Amino acid sequence: MYSETGSQWNVAELEDAAHRHLISPAEELAKLGTSGGRTLFTSADGIYITDSRGRRMIDGPAGMWCTQVGYNCKPIADAIAAQALRICYNSPWYSLNGPSAGLARRIAEFAPGDLNHVFFTTGGSSAVDSALRFMQFFNNVLGRPSKKTIICRIDGYHGSTHLTAACSGRAGNRPNFDLEMDNVTFISAPNRYRHPQGGDEAAFLEFLVAEFEERIESLGPQNIGAFLAEPVLASGGVIVPPKGYHRRFLEICRKHDILYISDEVVTGFGRCGEWFASEPAFDIVPDIITFAKGVTSGYVPLGGFVISDAVLGRISGENAKGSAYTNGYTYSGHPVSCAAALANIEVIEQGGLLAHVREVAPYFQEQLRKLGEIPLVGDVRGIGLLGCVECATDPHSQAATDFDKAVAARIDRLCYENGLIVRPIGSMCVLSPALIIKKEEIDTMISILRESIEKVQAEIR
Ligand code: PLP
Repeated sequence: MYSETGSQWNVAELEDAAHRHLISPAEELAKLGTSGGRTLFTSADGIYITDSRGRRMIDGPAGMWCTQVGYNCKPIADAIAAQALRICYNSPWYSLNGPSAGLARRIAEFAPGDLNHVFFTTGGSSAVDSALRFMQFFNNVLGRPSKKTIICRIDGYHGSTHLTAACSGRAGNRPNFDLEMDNVTFISAPNRYRHPQGGDEAAFLEFLVAEFEERIESLGPQNIGAFLAEPVLASGGVIVPPKGYHRRFLEICRKHDILYISDEVVTGFGRCGEWFASEPAFDIVPDIITFAKGVTSGYVPLGGFVISDAVLGRISGENAKGSAYTNGYTYSGHPVSCAAALANIEVIEQGGLLAHVREVAPYFQEQLRKLGEIPLVGDVRGIGLLGCVECATDPHSQAATDFDKAVAARIDRLCYENGLIVRPIGSMCVLSPALIIKKEEIDTMISILRESIEKVQAEIR
């Protein structure tokens, strides 16, 4: 299957093997075993990715919102190789390794407030799952076993374990998976565009706050353990909540002793120009922040959560009552992943990438918003290096039409021919490029997207 050197793919054979044997994480079963479908990528550098036909494209979504420092970053690759040779694994149950201790310290240094203790997992789903299981454990140790309900949002996405999938409110991910759970409840997405119940931004915020308070009241605060929220709903279509939303929700959580879990799997590690978006972008110090993706720039899998001393202190030390938080991942704090993360953080720091994002992101947002001139574009939104162009044949409709639901994939195909990958989500084209992107590259990306949307626009006239 490989060439003699092991470095060149035999493309035809690999594609055949994939079609015959590989199940993807979003497998359309009707097409299983057929050759139509996924692109094989063979190399990548910086913000670019090259497919097996030799076409080099700007990777608009940076993998899946994760390749922060870009592809082919030697310091990270070297750190991975060096750690794999030094000591590739140790049992986190019985021993320590340097990279995980060093990384926990680094994350505690830049996490907001008193979020000072880190639990490592293997990715975003396991990070959120672990944070939620911590909440259950926490309330059991505190002797209030009923305080377990999780309040989530429609269109939120938190992962693919049973519990995190149950907490994910995107309708398309739920059928046939038995995800209804008594202790998970959904409130509205803070999306003014598709759900404009509340008039202007301030009125919409009041609508959302009232809904949250009513839900707490109707279920009883003594039964609610956590509010789980992405700062910006990413997979739900880059939904940026109204100003002041997170602060108001945090205050309500504090009033009822509900843990505020901020899922920063996408927004963490520079995407909004800071290590975490909770603070300063959204001006909150949550109880727990979950992270993954950008922590290693996608070079190797890693995730985790960082938790406040205030919360942890309530069930540790003399308050522990003999309890042990056994959440036993074999690969918790994996030395190779943590070494990659430390190198990634160093690359972000040495390259001044947070400041770079703060500089180029307003330009990215401004250019993206110009696409709103195209009649097919219903809404353009985003923050930092997260952007979304939502198409709507009827811009005043609250529901996407069947045409709308397929339009982003059509736009993505046109973009691909011209050198750009877009993440199509129904009617939405999402962009979240690597943090190293330059203004000229933003121009190229947006002009390819413009041309493709205009082409589709012309076809439907
Ligand atoms: N949380 C959020 C906000 C995500 O966007 C994702 C994945 O996209 C996850 C959790 C799950 O992460 P993973 O796919 O690494 O398990």
